[in-house]
Amino acid sequence: MKGELLYEGKAKQVFTVVGDDTQLVLSYKNDATAFNGEKKATFTGKGRYNNLISAKVFEFLHEKGVASHFERVLNDTEQLVQKTTIIPIEVVVRNLAAGSITRRFGIEEKTAFTPSLVEFYYKNDALGDPLMSDDHALLLTDVSLEEIAEIKSAALQVNEQLQKFFLGINLVLVDFKLEFGRNVDGKIVLSDEVSPDTCRLWDKDTGKKMDKDVFREGLGDLLDVYDNILNRLEAVK
Ligand code: UDP
Repeated sequence: MKGELLYEGKAKQVFTVVGDDTQLVLSYKNDATAFNGEKKATFTGKGRYNNLISAKVFEFLHEKGVASHFERVLNDTEQLVQKTTIIPIEVVVRNLAAGSITRRFGIEEKTAFTPSLVEFYYKNDALGDPLMSDDHALLLTDVSLEEIAEIKSAALQVNEQLQKFFLGINLVLVDFKLEFGRNVDGKIVLSDEVSPDTCRLWDKDTGKKMDKDVFREGLGDLLDVYDNILNRLEAVK
C-alpha cells in the first residue's frame, strides 16, 4: 500500500499510496528539532506519541465538524491522510503569551490574549519562518483575501474546540501552530499535525510545561511528558 518516499521533513516522512494519488502516508519520526533546526536529538518512541496524539486531536476535530486531511491511523507511527498541497503559512494561535511573542514585543509570559491572537509566519526554513502580514501572505502564497479570512476563522474555531479538548485532560492550551493545505478538489483543509511538538500545553494545576519546551529548555524527560499526555487522552471515555 505504502509507495515511494515523496518528501522528508524534520519530524515526518511523506509517502505516496500505491494506486491512489489522492492520499498520502505520513510517517512520524523520532527526531526532535528546535531553534530552526539548531538543536537536535532523537527520542525512541516519540514518533508513536505524536502519531497517536495527533490522530486523537484530528478525530475529535472531525466530530466537531472541522475538515482536515486526516483519514485514519495505520500503525503506531503512520497515518493515512488526504493528499494536500501545503500552503506555506504557519498559522499560530495564542491564548497566553509564551515563546517568541514575549521576546518580539516584550510581553510578559502568561499575559492572556482576549480575543485570542492569530499570527502568520512564512513557512520557509532558509529564512527562519519570518512573521508576516496578510499582505505578505497575498504576495508570497496563492491564497486570496477571502481564503485568508477563511483560514483565520478556521484557526479560531480549532482553538475554541482544542481549548475544551485539552482542558478535559487538565491541560491549558497556551498556543499552537497549524498548517492548511489544498486537497485534490482545491478545498482548503487543516493539514500537518497537532501534537505536543506543535502546541504549548501547561498542566492546569501545577503550571508544568507538557510539550516540546521540555526539550527546547532542557526541563526533563520529553518521552515521559508525551507518554503522560497520551495516557490522559486514552483515559477519557
Ligand atoms: N511552532 C511550531 N513550529 C514552528 C514554530 C512554532 O509548531 O516552526 C509552535 C510552537 O510549538 C508553539 C507555537 O507554535 O506552540 C508558537 O511558537 P512561537 O512563535 O512562540 O515560537 P518559539 O518560541 O517556539 O520559537
